This record gives sequence, C-alpha cells and structure tokens, in this order.
Amino acid sequence: MQQTSGTQLTREYRIEGMDCADCARHVTAAISSVPGVAACDVFLGSERAVVHLHTEIANDTSNDVDATIRASVAQAGYRVGDDEASAGLAEARHASRTALRLLAGVSVVVLLIVVLGEWFGLLDGVTDRVPWYVSLLVLLAVGFRPLLVVLRNALRGRVVSHSLMTVGAVAAALAGQWSTAAIVVVFMRVGAYAEAATAGRSRSALRELTAMAPRTARRIDEDGAESQVAVAEVAVGDRVVVRPGEAVPTDGEVIDGEAYLDQSAITGESQPVAAAAGVRVFAASLVSGGALVVRVTAAGEDTTFARVIRLVQDAERNRAVVERAADRFSGYYLPIVAVIAGATWFFTRDISATIAVMVVACSCSFALATPIAMLASIGAAAREGVLIKGGATIESLARVSVVLLDKTGTVTTGKPRLVASLPLIDNEASLLRLAASVEQRSEHPIAEALRREAVERGIVPATVERFRAVPGIGVEAVVDGSLVSVRRADAAGKLPTGATDTANPAEWAREQEAAGRTVLCVHQSPVDQPDQRRLAGLLATSDRVRPAVAEAVARLRELGIDHIELITGDNRGSAEQVAAELGIACRAGLLPQDKIAVVREHQARGARVAMIGDGVNDAPALAGADVGIAMGAAGSDVAVESAHVALMGDDWLTVPLLFQIARRTMRVVRLNIGFTAVYNLLGLSLAALGLLPPVIAAAAQSLPDLGILANSSRLLRLPAALQSGRARAAVEAAPNEP
Ligand code: ADP
Ligand code: MG
Repeated sequence: MQQTSGTQLTREYRIEGMDCADCARHVTAAISSVPGVAACDVFLGSERAVVHLHTEIANDTSNDVDATIRASVAQAGYRVGDDEASAGLAEARHASRTALRLLAGVSVVVLLIVVLGEWFGLLDGVTDRVPWYVSLLVLLAVGFRPLLVVLRNALRGRVVSHSLMTVGAVAAALAGQWSTAAIVVVFMRVGAYAEAATAGRSRSALRELTAMAPRTARRIDEDGAESQVAVAEVAVGDRVVVRPGEAVPTDGEVIDGEAYLDQSAITGESQPVAAAAGVRVFAASLVSGGALVVRVTAAGEDTTFARVIRLVQDAERNRAVVERAADRFSGYYLPIVAVIAGATWFFTRDISATIAVMVVACSCSFALATPIAMLASIGAAAREGVLIKGGATIESLARVSVVLLDKTGTVTTGKPRLVASLPLIDNEASLLRLAASVEQRSEHPIAEALRREAVERGIVPATVERFRAVPGIGVEAVVDGSLVSVRRADAAGKLPTGATDTANPAEWAREQEAAGRTVLCVHQSPVDQPDQRRLAGLLATSDRVRPAVAEAVARLRELGIDHIELITGDNRGSAEQVAAELGIACRAGLLPQDKIAVVREHQARGARVAMIGDGVNDAPALAGADVGIAMGAAGSDVAVESAHVALMGDDWLTVPLLFQIARRTMRVVRLNIGFTAVYNLLGLSLAALGLLPPVIAAAAQSLPDLGILANSSRLLRLPAALQSGRARAAVEAAPNEP
C-alpha cells in the first residue's frame, strides 16, 4: 500500500514476530535508522509499520529504501511480511505447522507434569537423569533463534524482553545445570508463544472485519457488456452490477433495480433495508432479493468501509494513559529485576535462586495488559458499527458524568416535515418555492424537509446564486433577482404583530413554537439593499423523537450518568417539548460556538463530558468534548473526522452500550494490570527467597500472559443485552410521521 501526501510518501509494512512493546520499539528504531525515513509508527496490535519517506529519496532508484528497510528489520530479529498476498501463504504454513504444534504442546504438558511432580516430591530426579548432551540438543534446537536475537541486540547495547531469561539459561548451563537450562528455554518459547497468541487473538475482530472487504466487481463497460474486474480497477463514475448474494464493491448510488441491503459491515445493523434507484449504498453491504446497478461515487481507499478499517487500525495510535504508563514501567522493569537478581546472588550466593529471579519475570505482561483489552474491545465494537478511535477514548468514556445531546438530527429523526405555513406573499406554493430554492445546497435536515416537500407538491426550485449558510442560523441566496433568506425566527429580528389584516406573524410564531415546532422566517430584499427586507412568510416544521432515545436515556441513568442535557439551536418551545418527553434538562437557541461553551462550562466544574451529535452545526462541540460521539456517521465525513466515536448506524441503544463497553474494558484492564503486578511480585519474592526452583519459575512466567488472554478474550463478545436491544430497536423503528 502506498500513498503520497505533500513531500512525503507513506508505505506500510506487515511486521511479523513482534510480541511486546519492546519489540515495537526495536522495530521503530530499526526502520528509523534507515536513511530517507522521515518518521515511522509501529503498531503491535495490527502488526504494521507505517513509514513516512522523504519523496526525493524514495524515488531515487539508485537507493533501494525498501530493501534497506527490510534488511534493517531482519537484522533486528523480525520479519517483513508481504502484504495481503502472503496472507494465504501464511495460512497454509500455519496449517502445516499444526501437527508440529500439537507435538510441542504434548511435550510441554508432559514436561510440566514432570517438573511439578519433582517439585512436590512425587517424582524423584527425573530431570537430573537426562544426559547433558540431550539437554544441550534441546537447548540449541529451541533456544538458538531467541539466543541470536538477544545477542544481536546486546551487541547494540539493547535489552529485549527475553534478555534476562536468556542470561538465566546461560548461567544455568555454565553452572552445569544442563537440564535446567533446557527447561528454561522451552518455557521461554512457551511464554513467547502465549504472548503472540494473545496479541493475535485480540486482532481477530479486526481481521474478521477486513475479511469483509469486497475484492471483485462486475463492471458495465462502454458497450454494455459486464466484466469481472478487481475492485482496485473500478473508478468513480463507473457503473457496476451487484447480484443477489454479492457485496457492493464501492460506495455509490443505485441507478436501477430493487433489492434488500444488509449493511451490517458498516452500521452493525443486520436488519436488511430496501434499496431502489436514488438510494446511497456503501461498499461491503450485501445484496439480496434482487440485483442493483450502482453508479460509483467513491472507490478503493475512499469508501466508507475503507475508512472504517483505517480508523480501527489507527486506533492503536491513540493510546490510553494507563497504557503509556505501563509501557514506561515495562522499560524499567528489566533493570529492576536485574538488580534484584544481583542482590540475590550477593546476599545468598545461591545460583538457583538467582536464576529463578531472572527467569520468573517477563516484562511483556505489563505492556500487553492494556492494549490487548483495548484492541479486543475496539475490534468487537467495530463489528457492530461502533467505531472507537482509541484506548484514550475508552478511558475517557468510562469516566463520563455529563452527556450532552444535540437535538435536530440526533435526538430527533432528522426527517422533519413541513406542518404549517403563513404566507405573506401570493400563496403557500410560492413561499415554499422560495425557501426550497435557497435550501438546495444546504445539508441541514430542515433543508431536506423543505426540498422534499417541494418535490412532493411538484414545485420546481429556481436556480440560485451566491448561496451562503450561517451555521446554526440559516441560509440565504439570490433567487429570481432578489436576496432570500431562510432563518430561525429568533435570529430574523422582531416579527411584525400585524402584517396584514388577518395575519399576526409574531402571534403565529409563538403559537407554533408553543406546540413544539420549529419556525423559519423567509425574508426577501433587493440584492444590494439587504436591510430593506420584507417578510415573505413563515414556515413551521415538526420532527419526532427517535424511538429508542427514551430507553437509551434510561439506560444511561442506570449507568449512573445523571446529568443529561439537550443543547440545541432550535427554539425554546420545541426544545422543551423534547426535553420534557425524555425527562432531561435543556438549553435552546444556541449557536455552534455556544454549544462548545456549554461543554467547557461542565468541564470547568471538573466533569467529563460526552457530546452526542450528528456533525451538522455541532462538529466543534463534538471535537471539544472529552468524548464526541457522532450518530448516523456512515456517509458523513465531518462527523467521522471530528468525533472520537462514530456510530455508523443510528440505533440509539448503541449509546448506552458504548459506555458499557468502555467500563467493562477498563475493568478488564485494571484486573489485567493488578493480576500481573501481584503475580510478578509474588514470583520475584519467592524466587529471591530460594523457594522457587528455576524450572518452576520458568514455567510460571508464561502464565500471566495466558491470564491476560483469557481475561481480555471476554471483550471479544459484546454483552448479550445488545442483541436483544437491537432487535427491539428494529421493531420499534416505525415510519417517521410527525
Ligand atoms: P440543533 O442544535 O437542534 O441540531 P442546529 O444548530 O442545526 O440545530 O440549527 C439551529 C436552528 O437554526 C434550526 O432549528 C433552524 O431554525 C435554523 N437553521 C439552521 N440551518 C438551517 C437551514 N439550512 N435552513 C433553515 N433553518 C436553519
Ligand atoms: Mg443537529
């Protein structure tokens, strides 16, 4: 994969053989040392290195940066995999190794039984009777590679996670304890394997997601013939056919056909939705019950699905505070253990106790404790259409005490309807035509409502010039030679109380607002005299609260989040009606910058604030909150960019679920760290006191990783509450008539 931006070129490499933060650091160092590399990010979780190269060097053919990077990584003791192409190969290799693994597994179990048997005095001197040359053979066969890595790094003055264990094994061999040395390296490999398995398992959710990416497309060529091509060859503007059972290859718009779409890869919602001409579709949606012809609007890396994947992969970059702390600590851990080992030798002269200290400790479990849990959760959530942008977000989410909600398009369906009007010009149709014309280029839900209403009444909008949108207030443009604005009532100035004999606009607006409606003022003025404006009429729209919001709010309360507040740019009347329906506080008439001020106000009191919005007029508040949560984010770039969490679907029950996921993850993280700390402390103490034979110590060191694996694996499955909740939400999602 290769992308260009500015003067830098980005390349991605798959790195194999990393199992802890130390490894990631070494790979980073190895790649960064290559001339031409500007920066490098290595991700332990997804086994990737993202390398930024200076363009002029990368394009210099006399200097093969690529080969140099590969060589440098290999030198450090790791491998560069060949992209996806080799994934299949790796699987095959994987299978052929299964038999060998089984054999190794059985041997390890037998070894464990023998070692424990001896420790408890049930067996006697079995390992002592193993001839030294057999031990040496095992030592070399199992320990040669790790020994090489440790040595290579040692020559460069670097310590890797297994350095100490290796020193322990060598010390045992030098002391003539050949069987101990052999057993130590065997368990060292078992430990490394457990770590790799732990990291691999937590990646499985991401892998499953990536596997859903479509690979081929049926493109309709110039002559109308269909040809099967790789997805990479499809370009924007192409037409593709999607048959039942196939995945939509790109983002696009349906131009022909009718079918059902399962968009669960994107939104997590597996309930199929109907698709026909005009409907937007996303790559990786599954088509059933018919075929569709789709015009491509985004292909390759630009599709929503590709962005989802990238976001989840990049989530590793946004690391939690605990994770960084654990990482720093694991850097000190080995030196500390080395000192303890030295002290043990100094005070006891007991070589067995000293070796036991060196082999009982593995720094990896500290480094793994947090990212493994985070990755498992982020991956599991992504499969449900909940994109969490990193461990730091999970950490903040777990501490949120204030939740702020945007109204229009977030709490409400975002599909308001025009319900009343007060035309002061010719008639309702001409008033609507003016408004719908100006709204042609606005993405606001109200704009959509007016446009749809116009279409339904067969009103053709005029072409407009000089369109301008004032976020949170309204829009204006030149229509038929006059300046027309559509704005919220409180921003449009004082309304006349008696415009005509029969109409009282101020009174009308008050009544509509009291009924919970949104009132819009349409003004007309000469283009060069904006202050000479005349009220053309008023429009009132009405929207409905989404079905699952009440339930979601109740669940948030159950989670102990008791301050929930609606913050909206709409009028007080309609805000209060919605707030009363949900039993929450509200503030109305806010501008986008006022919404950030509310966020700041809560933060100043020391609260952690989550803001839930749809990205329309609330992107700054989403970005400014401790956690910005974007609803219905599929297809809305702003929302996905500015929020910390993107809910691709619009199921409100995923909101409380998100908080549950975060809290559960933090519980698992704390348990992982606590368990590792206690385990290591106990192991080190017993070893230093000479109560732990080296072989037992070696066997014990691989256990915390397995504990972390078992504990974190729970996160790969979401709470069962979700399934039932989503099913219920699907049933409740009635058509949205006001
Ligand atoms: P909310 O905070 O409820 O999501 P917004 O901030 O998006 O609402 O908008 C606030 C108010 O501004 C709306 O209730 C509406 O009156 C007015 N408004 C914003 N954009 C438009 C538009 N494109 N057309 C008409 N009115 C608009
Ligand atoms: Mg809004």
